[in-house]
Amino acid sequence: MNIFVLLKKTFDTEEKIKINDGQIEEDGAEYIINPYDEYAVEESIIQRDEHGGEVTVVTIGDDESEKQLRTALAMGADKAVLINTDEDLEDGDQSTTVKILESFFDDKEADLIFAGNVAIDESSGQVGPRLAEALDISCVTTITSLKIDGDTASIEKDVEGDVEMVESALPLLVTCQQGLNEPRYPSLPGIMKAKKKPLEELEIDDLDLEEEELEPKTVTIDIFLPPEKGAGKVLEGEVDDQVRELVTLLKDEKKVL
Ligand SMILES: Cc1cc2nc3c(=O)[nH]c(=O)nc-3n(C[C@H](O)[C@H](O)[C@H](O)COP(=O)(O)OP(=O)(O)OC[C@H]3O[C@@H](n4cnc5c(N)ncnc54)[C@H](O)[C@@H]3O)c2cc1C
Repeated sequence: MNIFVLLKKTFDTEEKIKINDGQIEEDGAEYIINPYDEYAVEESIIQRDEHGGEVTVVTIGDDESEKQLRTALAMGADKAVLINTDEDLEDGDQSTTVKILESFFDDKEADLIFAGNVAIDESSGQVGPRLAEALDISCVTTITSLKIDGDTASIEKDVEGDVEMVESALPLLVTCQQGLNEPRYPSLPGIMKAKKKPLEELEIDDLDLEEEELEPKTVTIDIFLPPEKGAGKVLEGEVDDQVRELVTLLKDEKKVL
């Protein structure tokens, strides 16, 4: 089976994020594999081990993205491709990303493409479904279980906490949701092996794309942190009095009742 994983490098939202002039400061930011893409890498390895074939992890990124690709290789992926846009493109949005990926997949004959449900930084959840549409293949989002039998995939997907069961023919693109699996940590032998696994680097010029196709269709106007939360208020006294005060505060101060 010819399996691909779309992997995005994101900044670690558990770390302190600094914003300067409407842009996230890259200096000092910690970068990780988008957590939903870890489920994607894990599932690709599970499916390859069961059905045979090869897992290729693909990212559109910069020189620094090699680190996340090597981690995916250390987890067990077979090959990695870095489409490095650093030199060629300054601006891009989901449309740019999908155009680049569409061109990359043109001659790949993928059976299965795994993406994350959403990237934790920009969170549009667009890349997977848009790519499936561009490649004219089926797409199932937020999957929590995947069984493949021949050319048919039986899938469970998360629908706001409920489960929907879907069947689809391959080729197929799925986006991965928490609960699908427990991503493994790279083992020491895995890390050693990953150093020797193939990591191909492509540039925009290597793909069959016109400059106009890559122009972003959206503009990010501003990025800002949420306002600092004020201190909480502790109500005191008898419970009845506390309830009365709470209702008054919700009505008059917060205006939510
Ligand atoms: C050349 C270029 C320049 C850019 N410049 C800017 C900029 O100046 N400012 C800015 O804010 N953003 C920039 N971006 C990022 C872009 O706006 C989005 O972050 C990107 O298109 C993905 O959208 P998302 O984060 O909403 O992902 P989602 O659609 O939420 O991601 C879902 C899944 O899609 C896959 N995916 C997403 N992104 C990638 C990727 N890069 N490679 C492989 N798989 C991926 C992953 O599997 C991910 O889990 C640029 C992108 C490109 C290609």
